[in-house]
Amino acid sequence: MNKMVSPTPKELENVHLDYDVIIIGAGVAGLYQLHLMRQLGLSVKSFEAGSGVGGTWYWNRYPGARFDSESWTYGYSFSKELMEEWDWKEHFSSQPENERYLNFVADKFNLRDDIQFNSKVITAHYLEQERCWSLTLEDGARYTSRFLITAIGILSAPTMPTIKGIDTFKGRWFHTYHWPKEKINFEGKRIGIIGTGATAIQTIQEIAKNAGNLKVFQRSPNWCAPLHNDKISKKEMDEIRSRYKEILARCRETPGCYIHSTDPRNTLDTPPDEREKFWEKLYASPGFGIWQGNFNDMLNDREANALASEFIAKKIRQRVNDPITAEKLIPKNHGFGTRRVPLETNYYEVYNQSNVELIDINDTPIQKITQNGIQTTECEHQLDMIIYATGFDAITGSFDRIDIQGLEGKKLKNAWEDGPQTYLGVFVQDFPNMLMSMGPHAGLGNYTRTAEYSVEWIAGIIQYAHEKNITEVKATTQGVKDWTDYVLGLGEGLLQNEIGSWMTGVNKNVKGKEAPRIMRYSGGHPAFRQHCDAIAKGGYKQLDLS
Ligand code: NAP
Repeated sequence: MNKMVSPTPKELENVHLDYDVIIIGAGVAGLYQLHLMRQLGLSVKSFEAGSGVGGTWYWNRYPGARFDSESWTYGYSFSKELMEEWDWKEHFSSQPENERYLNFVADKFNLRDDIQFNSKVITAHYLEQERCWSLTLEDGARYTSRFLITAIGILSAPTMPTIKGIDTFKGRWFHTYHWPKEKINFEGKRIGIIGTGATAIQTIQEIAKNAGNLKVFQRSPNWCAPLHNDKISKKEMDEIRSRYKEILARCRETPGCYIHSTDPRNTLDTPPDEREKFWEKLYASPGFGIWQGNFNDMLNDREANALASEFIAKKIRQRVNDPITAEKLIPKNHGFGTRRVPLETNYYEVYNQSNVELIDINDTPIQKITQNGIQTTECEHQLDMIIYATGFDAITGSFDRIDIQGLEGKKLKNAWEDGPQTYLGVFVQDFPNMLMSMGPHAGLGNYTRTAEYSVEWIAGIIQYAHEKNITEVKATTQGVKDWTDYVLGLGEGLLQNEIGSWMTGVNKNVKGKEAPRIMRYSGGHPAFRQHCDAIAKGGYKQLDLS
C-alpha cells in the first residue's frame, strides 16, 4: 500500500469544508456539545435522525417512561440561569416533561438554528489528504467537516427479536423505542409484551391499569426495587434549588455521579439485624439508593451479594400473591444489582391483578408470531397488540449502524469486532478527528452528569486544536492499548461483568454479541475525570497532534 504523504498547510487551506465540526445527534450530550462549539465561534452543524430534540427522551415515548435518577440531579448544570428557570414537577420526571425540558433548553440557547432534523447519517468517511470527515445522509446529501463528534447515545440502536412472523401480525405492534406520538388506547385490549427489562417494567405497570388483558412474555426476570416517586411542590422546588450547589458537588464525588454513594460498611461485617434494618430503609427510600448506596461489598463479594439478593427475593414473595408466579419473577442466574436495576411502582402487584398473566417462555418458548398473536409451544395467545420491549444493541450498536471508515478505509465495525478499543472512551485508533461523546470505555453513570463532563472535555481539545492550528488529532497505538487494557483490568472481578446484559454488550438478537464483555470504565467517575483532566492540563501529549 502507498504511504500517504501528509498534506502541507497550504494544501489544507484550499480544502473546502462545510463546517469546522459536525455533531451526530441532538440528545442530552449532542445539545450541549452544539452549544459549546458555538460558544467557541466554530461553524457547526448537528444532524439528528428525529424530527425534534431529545434523543432518548424524544424516541422513548412509551407509556410510563420516566427518569430513574432524581430529576434534580439529571438536569444540565452548565447554566445557572437555566437551573433558576426550570422547575421539576416530579422527583422522577416523566418522558413528556423531559422532552419539554430539552426543548426548553434548545429554545433558550437558540440551538435549533444549527440542527438539521430528519437527517440520518448513514456514512462517515475520513478523507486522509483533506484531513476531514465526509458524511452522507439518508437522502444522499454530503457534508464535510474537520472534526466529527458522535453524540449518538449508548441505548439508541433498538433491536427486534429474531422471531418468525413479526410482519404477519394483523394487530398493531411497536418497539418501545419507536413508540408513536399519538395516544394509544389500551382500554379493553388484549396486549402481549415481550421483555422484562427496565423499559418493559415501566410499560407493564402503566398499561396494566386499563388493559383488558395483558400477557407478559418473560425470558429472564430482573431484580427490581421501588422508585417511590412523588410530586415536587413549588416550595420544595425552591428548597431543592437552594441546594443545587451541594447536590452537584455530591454527584461529582460519587462513582456513578448519582446522589447515592456506597455505604462504607461491608455486608458480612455488619450484624444481621443491623443490615436488615439498613436494607429495609433503602427499600423504603426513593431512587437508586438500594443499588448505588448499598454495602461496599455488594457488587464484588458473592456471599454479600447473595444476602442482598435474598432480601429482595423476600420482598418479591411478600408482594406477589401466587407463590409460583413470585418464584418466576425472582432471578436465579444473577445477583441483585449485577444488571441495571429497574425501578418500579407497584410492578410486582400487577401480577395480583386478574387481567395480567406472566408467561415464562423458558417453559413454553415462543415459536412464531401469527396473524392473531403469539404462538408458544403451549398455545396461540390471541392478541390485539404486541409490544416489543426487547432492548438495544447497546453502547457500540449505534456506531455499527453507521458506515464509519477511518484511515485506509478501515471500518469501525471491524475494528471493534472483538470489543471496543478506545483512548479515554473518546478516540479510536485510525479514526483521526473523530471524538465520541460518551463512547465505550468512558466513565458512564447518571447520564447528564457524565455527559456534561465528556462534552466539556471534547470541547477543550477542539478549542486547543483550533487555537494552535492543529488539523489532525489522533490517538496513538500505545495510548489505545494502554487505556483498553486498563479498562479491562478494572472491570475484572466485578460481578456485573460476569452476567449478560446491555451493560456487558450482550444482545442475544445480534450475532456475535452473545458473550459478556467489559464495555464500561468501572474505576468511578472521579478517577476518570482526574485521569482525563491531567491529560488536558498537560497539553494532550499522549495524543498525536499535527
Ligand atoms: P433490556 O434491559 O435489554 O431488556 C430487554 C428485554 O427484552 C429483556 O428482558 C430480554 O430478555 C428481552 N428480550 C430481548 N429479546 C428477546 C427475545 N428474542 N425473546 C424474548 N425476550 C427477549 O432493555 P430495556 O428494558 O429497554 O432497558 C435497557 C436500558 O435502558 C435499561 O437498563 C436502562 O439503563 C435504560 N432505561 C432507562 C430508563 C430510565 O432511566 N428511566 C428506563 C428504561 C430503560 P433477556 O434478558 O433474556 O435477554
